[in-house]
Amino acid sequence: MKERVALVTGGSQGIGRAICEELSRRGATIIVNHYPSESDAEKAADTVKAIETAGGKAMALQADVTKSDQVDKMIKDALEAQGKIDILVNNAGITRDTLIMTMAEEDWDAVLTTNLKSAFLCSKAVVRSMMRQRYGRIVSMSSVSGIAGNPGQTNYSASKAGIIGFTKSLAREVAARNITVNAVAPGFIPTELTQDLPEELKQGSLGSIPLKRWGTPEEIAYAVAFLASDEAGYITGHILSVDGGMVMG
Ligand code: NAP
Repeated sequence: MKERVALVTGGSQGIGRAICEELSRRGATIIVNHYPSESDAEKAADTVKAIETAGGKAMALQADVTKSDQVDKMIKDALEAQGKIDILVNNAGITRDTLIMTMAEEDWDAVLTTNLKSAFLCSKAVVRSMMRQRYGRIVSMSSVSGIAGNPGQTNYSASKAGIIGFTKSLAREVAARNITVNAVAPGFIPTELTQDLPEELKQGSLGSIPLKRWGTPEEIAYAVAFLASDEAGYITGHILSVDGGMVMG
């Protein structure tokens, strides 16, 4: 990926950081997007430093990816700084888990906006430059929850199922310009997103995972890096499950 430039949303921690590091290990220049807060800026700076220490190239750009003006500015700044964006990873995401009877409208809106609308805004903002250069890789983060459903996650599941439809439709729209659009659907991965799940749910989840363990952020990053590579040039509109076998078929 030596000549490639990759932008990863929510890239300062968890799975996003692992993706930044893996794409960098493969030679890409990385743009680490982070939410505009002091703590996220610090974490993004730390990610950039880790990449540079390992011999890679990276920069951080802040943007709340739910806001079109901030997304447009980020993409403009990224294109000015690096000349192009070859790879977009729509990774930023949140959960607001609760049963539907107690789910506030804001919980629904926040999750749909952060997990799904952000993919629309970021993809829309980069796709023109990808079409012009006749090359692009867009990889978005879905979830096992978007495929199989999960009680307490109607908002999250809807957003992640939405990513699947979005991915397939966009893949058909831009294929003629040599742009591939795919998604990765992780199972359970230990990050800040899952750290507050009740212990009994964490233990209970192992019963439904044939490989009998949670995955790692690195294992998600390997799948994203493959879909973002030149070698995956004949794969588009695909949803790649990386879930220890939780959802098959
Ligand atoms: P994480 O550690 O919480 O990372 C998510 C990142 O997205 C955080 O840095 C977060 O920043 C950022 N983010 C949230 N809203 C944003 C916004 N509006 N603008 C910019 N950045 C924003 O969670 P993770 O587990 O690595 O999740 C990464 C992706 O994988 C998500 O899409 C998630 O749904 C998906 N996924 C995770 C799992 C799992 O088991 N962990 C399973 C399936 C799918 P803040 O910390 O400031 O919010």
